[in-house]
Amino acid sequence: MMPQPEPRFLNRQNPTPAGPSRRGLLAGSSGLIALAGLAACASPQAPETGRANLAGPPQTPDEVLQVLRAGNQRYADGMPEHPNQATERRNEQAEHQNPFALIHGCVDSRVTPELLFDQGIGDLFVTRTAGGVLDGTLVGSMEFAVSSPYSVPLLVILGHAACGAVAGTLKAMEEDAKNPQLPGEMVDFAEQIAPVARRAKVEGSGSEEVDHVVQANARAVTAQLLKRSAIIREAVQEKRTRVVAAVYDLDSGEVRWLDG
Ligand SMILES: [Zn+2]
Repeated sequence: MMPQPEPRFLNRQNPTPAGPSRRGLLAGSSGLIALAGLAACASPQAPETGRANLAGPPQTPDEVLQVLRAGNQRYADGMPEHPNQATERRNEQAEHQNPFALIHGCVDSRVTPELLFDQGIGDLFVTRTAGGVLDGTLVGSMEFAVSSPYSVPLLVILGHAACGAVAGTLKAMEEDAKNPQLPGEMVDFAEQIAPVARRAKVEGSGSEEVDHVVQANARAVTAQLLKRSAIIREAVQEKRTRVVAAVYDLDSGEVRWLDG
């Protein structure tokens, strides 16, 4: 079955004199429909070099989710459009950036946000650590994305099936459940994942156990982030930003949203 066409958003090359607004133009599937702020996209230097360049940032958490869902569906169906990856886009984004989401995921080489959400240059902030665990620099990076002028409407905490950091932690917990030991500073992510695994009351074993903890960990990191960052908490309370957890399946290529 063919996926629904992705909603398209006109590019906002030049913010209005009042400053950037994330509420601008919404494109329907039957064509581009300007809802507001038409002048914001009427930049004379907007490159007319193809469909990808007509795509602009969505403005609200719901709109961002819609764009990411559609992009992931294209990717999972084997029909990616590879938007915003042309030289023109690169040149244009060298002058400014206006990403519409931050994806926080794992370092795993198979879980590349721009690919699996079928996005391009300047579309996404990306932070990655083994197992997606947090530290101060990570939270600060997310606060940077949520703050002006970027004010991204959506943060995605993305776990993935068969996560090696989770599997490694579970293995180390078999030897020492309270203090799982991994070499060097890898112990840092193990110490963060282990309490989640203990609370998860895992049923099953092997890959089933790993995937269960991956899901619990994505939810736990989401909760930790909101607890830890007053800046992000405030943005969420004011409905400027939403934080959602999700899990990526390596086989199907599909992202499963755990909430939101
Ligand atoms: Zn991983």
